[in-house]
Amino acid sequence: MRFLILSDIHANVDAFDAVLEAAEVERWDRALVLGDLVGYGAEPNAVIERVLSLNPMAVIRGNHDKAACRLADASDFNHVARAAALWTAETLTAENRMYLERLPQGPMSTDDTVEICHGAPFDEDHYIFDLPDAGHALDSTARPICFFGHTHLPVIYRRGVDGDAGFVPEVEHNLDVPLGDGARYLINPGSVGQPRDGDPRAAFGIYDTSRRVMTMSRVDYRVDLAQKRIFDAGLPPSLAHRLAVGR
Ligand code: ZN
Repeated sequence: MRFLILSDIHANVDAFDAVLEAAEVERWDRALVLGDLVGYGAEPNAVIERVLSLNPMAVIRGNHDKAACRLADASDFNHVARAAALWTAETLTAENRMYLERLPQGPMSTDDTVEICHGAPFDEDHYIFDLPDAGHALDSTARPICFFGHTHLPVIYRRGVDGDAGFVPEVEHNLDVPLGDGARYLINPGSVGQPRDGDPRAAFGIYDTSRRVMTMSRVDYRVDLAQKRIFDAGLPPSLAHRLAVGR
């Protein structure tokens, strides 16, 4: 099985389309979507419809999905994120709002070896930023490989007999990372729609369960088109500017 791992698409349909085109070349069987389909970007309905068209094996909700369908009140968001959440709530079709409302909360196991969560396996809204956070998360994973999102930063944490370690992949285009037997992994593929590691290219991952290889990928997309949609929608302009710098 080759899982296509998508996180934090954030209503950026231009980035999403570029990822799907690149992933087609790499081939994949089933998609796993780690939440935050919407929020920040200008095409929430188009992104939800594309996710549905993939017939994903699993989709879980993120904090922005909850805010957009008012399952959460966005009071912990900064004013830009809150403005985007309000705009998204008003822009969603009734059908798509209902789709977000019904998204399950992570963590969710997808087979004997893989589980997914948005923030952390012990709390869907928790950010894993460093090795101590990752260690805490690895204590509570139900499967040897756990995919997470929420920080928009690609990273691979590994727990082996020699202890815990973290590794930030430098990805030219694709980077194959063999996952060893007997170790546990916590992997963030990065964000499709709003990367924050200083690299504006869209990020995604493919995990091949039979070869036990994780491929971390980056792909260029038309940032200018995504920016224009944000300006045209009347969303806060800073949401467009940050896309160009990947922050
Ligand atoms: Zn996010």
